[in-house]
Amino acid sequence: MLIQHEYFKSRSSFYNLDPIGIGTANVESLTSFIMRLCKVHHIRIRALFTYIYKQRLVSKPISFQSDYFNRGKMLYNQEITAALGKLTKRFDIAFLSLYLFPEYIYGRDVKKYRVWCPSCFEEDESSLALVYDRLLWNLEFVKICNVHKCLLETRCPGCSRKNPVLSVKLSIDFCHHCGYKLSNVVPKSIECLSIHERNAQEIIINQLCLLLSLNYKGRHFISFYKEEQCFGKLNREDISDIKKVFGMETMGYITKYFLENGIHNRTTHKNPGIKDMHYFWTRIFMFQILNKDLYDKLHNSALFIEL
Ligand SMILES: [Zn+2]
Ligand SMILES: [Zn+2]
Repeated sequence: MLIQHEYFKSRSSFYNLDPIGIGTANVESLTSFIMRLCKVHHIRIRALFTYIYKQRLVSKPISFQSDYFNRGKMLYNQEITAALGKLTKRFDIAFLSLYLFPEYIYGRDVKKYRVWCPSCFEEDESSLALVYDRLLWNLEFVKICNVHKCLLETRCPGCSRKNPVLSVKLSIDFCHHCGYKLSNVVPKSIECLSIHERNAQEIIINQLCLLLSLNYKGRHFISFYKEEQCFGKLNREDISDIKKVFGMETMGYITKYFLENGIHNRTTHKNPGIKDMHYFWTRIFMFQILNKDLYDKLHNSALFIEL
């Protein structure tokens, strides 16, 4: 620890490390960025967290075990994001979590354990030599890789244990427990899922990808939300983006799916795909209710009708 502290003292700041995929659906997660930052500095994550706390950049010691690093809008996440922004002098670290709106956002809930696509890791390694964890994989409801059409892995192929979101192994593609290479497994095709599950994944992931790709515009939307007079200043593209965030088309699509498949008891339906679609629908609905003023403006506005 002494050596680590001496190391920190000798540096004025951290590398201005580029986050991967900002403004796209393939954006990396905050935990991925933390692990890569520590890796390039050859320091342990625990040492980084101790340093951040001792510099009073966060209000309480950072728990290594927290499940909530990647969950936007948590005080915890916001403090760490701000601290990393100061240390790296980057303004875009906030985009490594979903924080589009001031109120509840339907993609904010994150998994408690790491999941990954072995093919994505392999491709990262061969093309970029930079393996990273996607924020999309961390979001609740996401069970497949939409690029490789395979299931996301949840357990280490070597020891069968689940991996924490932050690992002491700074290489993202190695098991936290046994050091086994996490990409060293044959991907499981989505064909092993039921048709409803596959359709649910497609619908949900499309909407979440939309959210992630609009995430970087979040600040703009927030200022719009807070200042009523800004509404008139929004251009057609802004309005169209906000409509997408509200998921109007996706909700309509899910409702139609249930009708066409004669599904009436969607709350008690046994198929996990139907359950996921239903819960996702209700999350978007809650988001619309909680942001009702904005939603009403969109519906009543001439701008809305024009689109
Ligand atoms: Zn993949
Ligand atoms: Zn393992």
